[in-house]
Amino acid sequence: MLPRWIWDFVKVVGGDVVADVRGWRFDVVGPRFLARPSISDVTSPCPEKRDVWIRRVMRMKIDSDLFVLGRAVHEVFLYPFRRRYDSLWDVLRGFEKLLASFDPLAKRYKEQFVKLFRKSFAFALYSVEEGIPISVEPMIPAASIGLSDFVKPDLLVGFLPVDISLASNEKNFERKELALTGYALAIESWIGHPIDFGVAIYVNLFTEPMLTWRIIRVDDSLRRTFLEMRDKVAMILEHPDEPPPVSSNCPQSCPYIEVCKK
Ligand code: SF4
Repeated sequence: MLPRWIWDFVKVVGGDVVADVRGWRFDVVGPRFLARPSISDVTSPCPEKRDVWIRRVMRMKIDSDLFVLGRAVHEVFLYPFRRRYDSLWDVLRGFEKLLASFDPLAKRYKEQFVKLFRKSFAFALYSVEEGIPISVEPMIPAASIGLSDFVKPDLLVGFLPVDISLASNEKNFERKELALTGYALAIESWIGHPIDFGVAIYVNLFTEPMLTWRIIRVDDSLRRTFLEMRDKVAMILEHPDEPPPVSSNCPQSCPYIEVCKK
């Protein structure tokens, strides 16, 4: 389903990725704490990870408009892949139902979602025709590397993890790099085979091109950064009576601003 140039990049331009921190090196990547965060905990937007503490310890969850829209983008993109072996009629009917189930905020973007659906449907049909193995939100065991029992990348193309997000988050590219690194480590620990790349797809609802693709080389620097962040979050969860400080650099889109700044 991926554009041809991505495979060419991986084969020809990507070269060898130098990495010692592999998912099967349990002496290096094994858990250091009893608490095991999820990938979204490790890659949460709060610089202090206070949002993880609010969600997991205070058990408070607040959705922002951006989260609602991001979730809808995910569902629209993934829908044709989930239903790729169904009849055309069933897929189209199901897509109408999916749109009807959206939050009123997301429904305002119906025109853009139809356009996104057409593109994604084309990729899904192509993958079926070409026999490309794809899993949608597969459950990959991750406890052995100190994460939640399972992690779920949006797509697995062969063993290449793919992450989809709303393009307004592109400035948070670092977080996507870390998420794909976490998936790569989990897959490595699961199958014992190196995963050197991941792909981030950004969906631009209002500009062209609608889809932007970025390839991430999962090198040792990213792997070590991921493990440091994993341990920072695990330590927060293991000491619930010690809330992380309020950040001095809160992203404006953080839904917990009202909670933290009152
Ligand atoms: S408001 Fe600031 S400190 Fe609180 S969770 Fe959000 S980013 Fe973190």
